[in-house]
Amino acid sequence: MPMRSVYLDYASTTPMDPRVLEAMQPFHRERFGNPSSVHAFGQSARQAVDEARESIARAIGARDAEEIVFTSGATEADNFALIGAAYANEGRGRHLIISPVEHHAVLEPARFLESRGFELTLLPVDGTGRVDPAAVRRAIRSDTILASVMHSNNEIGTLQPVADIGRITREAGVIFHCDAAQGLGIVPIDVQALGVDLLSMSAHKRYGPKGVGALYIRKGTPLVRFLHGGSHERNRRAGTHNVPGIVGFGEAVRLALEVMEEEAARLRALRGRMIARLLVLDGVRLNGHLTERLPGNVNISFRSADSESLLLALDLAGVAASSGSACTSGSLEPSHVLSAIGLDPETAAGTLRFSLGRWTTEEEIDDVLAILPGILEQVRSAAIDTR
Ligand SMILES: *Cc1c(COP(=O)(O)O)cnc(C)c1O
Repeated sequence: MPMRSVYLDYASTTPMDPRVLEAMQPFHRERFGNPSSVHAFGQSARQAVDEARESIARAIGARDAEEIVFTSGATEADNFALIGAAYANEGRGRHLIISPVEHHAVLEPARFLESRGFELTLLPVDGTGRVDPAAVRRAIRSDTILASVMHSNNEIGTLQPVADIGRITREAGVIFHCDAAQGLGIVPIDVQALGVDLLSMSAHKRYGPKGVGALYIRKGTPLVRFLHGGSHERNRRAGTHNVPGIVGFGEAVRLALEVMEEEAARLRALRGRMIARLLVLDGVRLNGHLTERLPGNVNISFRSADSESLLLALDLAGVAASSGSACTSGSLEPSHVLSAIGLDPETAAGTLRFSLGRWTTEEEIDDVLAILPGILEQVRSAAIDTR
């Protein structure tokens, strides 16, 4: 059945909302000034950057817009948070706690720090990928300086008990970092209620432009800066501001908050429809949590089928999905997230992630559900033939 193309990979990146693109337009040519310049051109750009900062601060319940530092995305924010906090606090201790289901942008800086003499504790997770807050309490030592547990998982969609972890880290005087790239603008996030000191964000996951994000830094959190070369961002990150990107980020977050409740309800309904219809197929399991889950995430393992073949066949039919994480696809290693929740390598190798978003329709979901059983059968019988 020929089909128009269906994009179900919103967790990798999203198209920009046309209203975001429109808000960015003037900052390429008319209001092109450098926000650090004192003249009117500069001040016009500066004002827009400040408004975007306010929009993002409001969205996450930050007390002061100055607690938002713009970055090139969540990868930079994660690196800044981990490496910056580790080196700023090494006098107090060199022990870090992280969850095993973190994005590579957290795991790899953590491994880097380990290679430089810091000590890591990887938390256990249950079969749905959730961290038990009590395990965080047990892992904390007198020399623990930082804990990092993500808000919501990019592969399996699991939401973490962030507020419960935040209460424990606060009591212990441990800095708490949370990667919220997937959750921002889709579920409510309040850094006060969550007890988070450092929060990573990305614009392109929420219908904004690529190459821009931010790190929330709670006032008083010591952090060693990364980029030297100017006094931008109150001496925390040097470099001329990506003004159009920052403006687009602010607008994307503002819009996302406006439609958040309605959009999440719509996505939950589509997700429920898709999961229910997939689970009746033979040899299928749902990964992640049934309810504590990102509204647009469907992660499914298909027995005796490898995800690369499934993805290719889906792509030929015009459907874009993912085998888990854009950053690991193409590699033959099983995803660290699927291993952490206890999937054996064979099951992990037959896993697909469908991520739904703002422009996903019920009709598209039904079209995909209509062709999937055939594709599955084709891939499974090809696997038997080549045995
Ligand atoms: C996408 C993503 C990142 C990386 O964000 P970029 O802005 O693309 O650098 C980090 N963490 C999570 C959980 C993500 O989903």
